[in-house]
Amino acid sequence: MNSRSQTFLDTPIEYLKGVGPQRADLLKKELQVFTFYDLLTQFPFRYVDRTRFYKVNEVSIDYPYVQLRGKIKSMTMAGKPRNQRLIAKFYDESGTIDLLWFAGAKWMLDKLKGEKEFIVFGKATSFKGQINIPHPEIEEVSEENTRLASSLQAVYNSTEKLKSKGLDSRGIYKLMRVLVANIHKNIPETISDELLGEYKLMQRERAFQTIHLPENPEALRKAEYRLKFEELFFIQLRLLRLKVIRQKNFKGFVFGKVGEYFNTFYTQYLPFDLTGAQKRVIKEIRYDMGSGKQMNRLLQGDVGSGKTLVALMTMLIALDNGFQACIIAPTEILAAQHYESISKMLEKLPIKVELLTGSTKKSNRKIVHEQLQTGTLHILIGTHALMEDAVLFKNLGLIVIDEQHRFGVAQRARMWKKNTQPPHVLIMSATPIPRTLAMTLYGDLDVSIIDELPPGRKPISTSHKFDSQRLRVFGFMKEQIAIGRQVYIVYPLIEESEKLDLKNLMDGYESIVRAFAPPDYRVSIVHGQMKAADKNFEMQRFVKGETQIMVATTVIEVGVNVPNASVMVIENAERFGLSQLHQLRGRVGRGADKSYCILMTSFKLSADSKIRINTMVGSNDGFEIAEVDLRLRGPGDLSGTQQSGVLDLKISDLAKDVQIVQLARSCASQILAEDPTLEKPSNQRIAQQYVQLNQNKTNWSRIS
Ligand code: ADP
Ligand code: MG
Repeated sequence: MNSRSQTFLDTPIEYLKGVGPQRADLLKKELQVFTFYDLLTQFPFRYVDRTRFYKVNEVSIDYPYVQLRGKIKSMTMAGKPRNQRLIAKFYDESGTIDLLWFAGAKWMLDKLKGEKEFIVFGKATSFKGQINIPHPEIEEVSEENTRLASSLQAVYNSTEKLKSKGLDSRGIYKLMRVLVANIHKNIPETISDELLGEYKLMQRERAFQTIHLPENPEALRKAEYRLKFEELFFIQLRLLRLKVIRQKNFKGFVFGKVGEYFNTFYTQYLPFDLTGAQKRVIKEIRYDMGSGKQMNRLLQGDVGSGKTLVALMTMLIALDNGFQACIIAPTEILAAQHYESISKMLEKLPIKVELLTGSTKKSNRKIVHEQLQTGTLHILIGTHALMEDAVLFKNLGLIVIDEQHRFGVAQRARMWKKNTQPPHVLIMSATPIPRTLAMTLYGDLDVSIIDELPPGRKPISTSHKFDSQRLRVFGFMKEQIAIGRQVYIVYPLIEESEKLDLKNLMDGYESIVRAFAPPDYRVSIVHGQMKAADKNFEMQRFVKGETQIMVATTVIEVGVNVPNASVMVIENAERFGLSQLHQLRGRVGRGADKSYCILMTSFKLSADSKIRINTMVGSNDGFEIAEVDLRLRGPGDLSGTQQSGVLDLKISDLAKDVQIVQLARSCASQILAEDPTLEKPSNQRIAQQYVQLNQNKTNWSRIS
C-alpha cells in the first residue's frame, strides 16, 4: 500500500481547512472524529433533493423543507432590544414571504445586502396565520452554489454543542466538501480487483466521494452498496478467520464413540421419541465432536423445542468417551430446574449429577469439588459459580451454556481453561435470532437449528385485553383453574423504576388474592428481591400444584417448566420487548392442554407497542417474531449484542441488508478457502486492510 495514502487518512482533523482547535476538540468529544478518515466515515443519514425549487406561493408548512430562488426586497429589525429579530422580505415572481432570524441578525444583515439573487432552503412554519421561514439556509447564487444545489444533499447527524460552533448538518457538509475535494489518489482500495470486477463494485475513492456528494440517485445507490459490502465483508472475514485459526491452534478431544450411557438411555429411558430436528442436530453435534476439532456450536431453537434433551444426549456422548460435562445456566432457578429434570431422566443410570450455585452450602461445595477432581462426579449443573477457579475437573470434555446472551464473552473464555485443552462448547440460545444477525454475531460459530416443535403441541392462543376487561380475564382464569390448570401472572420489573414496579407487583398480588381467596385458591409470588431460598420454596409450591396461580416478575422468563400451567397473563404487556414476550409465552403450552396467553395493556398504546402486541397475537413463530423485533429496534438493542462489538456498524443495516451480508460472507469464505493466510498477491489489499482493522482488537480466537 502506498504510505502517502495512509498518512492522508490518518491526518489529525485539526489540519482540515475550516476546523480550528476548538471545532477539532468538539468533533472529537461529540462524534469521536479524530482523523480525516473518521470524518469521511460519518455517513449521511439521509439526503434532500436540492433539484426541486418551489415557488413562493407554493410554500406550505406541510413540506418537510422547501427550496426557493429569489431576491430580497427589504430588511427590518423588529421586537424589543433584548428580543430582536431580523425580518427579510423575500420574493420571486409568484409572491413574497418572510425570512426570520432571531440570532446572528447583524451578520445576516450584512450578508443579504444588495441586489443579489439567493437560494433559500428551510422549513416553513406558521405564526398567527402567516407563513414564514425561520433560520433558513441562504446562499448567493454563484456557480459553485448552483452546482451544489443541483444534487442530492447529504444530511448529517450533529449535536447541540456542535451546532453552537456552526457545525450543524450544513456545517459538517461544508467540511466534507473540503475534505472530499482532497481525497483524489489518497484513498487506497481495500478490495481485490477480482471482487470489484465480479460484483461490479464501485471504486473506494469514488464511493466515498459519491456518498457525500452524490451526482444522482443511481450513483448513490452504488456507492452505498460498495461501502456496505466492504464493511460487512471485513467483519465476515474476521469471524471466519477466527474459526480457521481456532481450528488450527486448538485440537479438540476426539469423542470417537457412542457407548453404553448414550445407548442405554436412548433405548430404555428416553421419555419420548426424538423429533426429526432433534435427531438431525444430535447428528451434527456428534460429527463435530468426533472430528478432532474443538466444537463451538450454537444451538438455536424456539422456546419449548426441546434443547435440554439435546444437551443431555450430548453430555452422554462426553461421558461415554471418559469425560465429564457441565451445564451453565444464567439463574439459580433455571440451574435447579435443569438439575431436577436431568437427574430424573438419568435416575436409572449409574451417573452422578450435582448442582452447584452461589447458595450451595460450604460443606456441600467441598464435597462437590472433591468429587469433581476424583472424577466420581460426571455431570455438574450450575450457575456462574461453576466458572470460579476453585472448581477443578478431573477431565472436563464438554461445556453446555444455556441462554447464552446472559454471559459476557470474557466469562465464557474462562471455561476454556478448565482442561489441558479446551473442551467442546455447545451454546444454547433460547432467543431465536434472525439469520443475518446470527451470521454477524455468531459468525465464528457453527449453527444448529431445531426448527420443529415436539408433536402434539397445540399453538398457544394469544389475545389482547385492556385493563378495563380485567374482570372477564379473572373469570376465564377461574374456568381454567376449575378444570385443573394453573396460571402465571407476570409483571414487568425494569431496573430504573424498580421501587414503583415492585409496588405495582405487590398491589397486583393483593388484588389477585382478594379475587382468588383461600381456601378455594392459593397464590404464589416470586420476584427478584426475594431470597433464593424463599423463591425456591414458592416455585416448588407452584410446581407441585399446591398453588394455582403464580404472580411473578420476569424471573420466570427463562426456562421454568410447569406443563400443567396453561394460562399466561402478562400485565403492562406494552412495556415488554418482543423477544421477552415470546419467552414468557413459552412458559405455557408445554403440556397437552390448550394454552392461552393474555396480553393486558392500558388503552393508549404507542405505534411500536401496537406492532408488538399485534405481532404476538398473530404469530407463534419465534424466528418471525425476531425479524420484526430486529426491524423495530435495530440490532443494537437485541439481547446479547451489546458486548459483542461486531455490531458497531457505520453504514450497514442488518435488518435491511440481508443479501449483502450473505454475499459478503460467501465471498469471505471463498477467499479463505483458497488462501487461508491471505498471502496471494491478488489478496494483498484485503490482507492489509484486515491487519489495519484488527490491530486493536482483542484476541477473540480464544473465546467461544
Ligand atoms: P427448550 O428448548 O425451551 O429448552 P425444553 O428442553 O425445556 O425446551 O423442552 C420443552 C418441553 O418439551 C419439556 O417438557 C420436554 O420434556 C419436552 N420435550 C422435549 N423433547 C420432546 C420430544 N421429542 N417429544 C415430546 N416432548 C419433548
Ligand atoms: Mg430451555
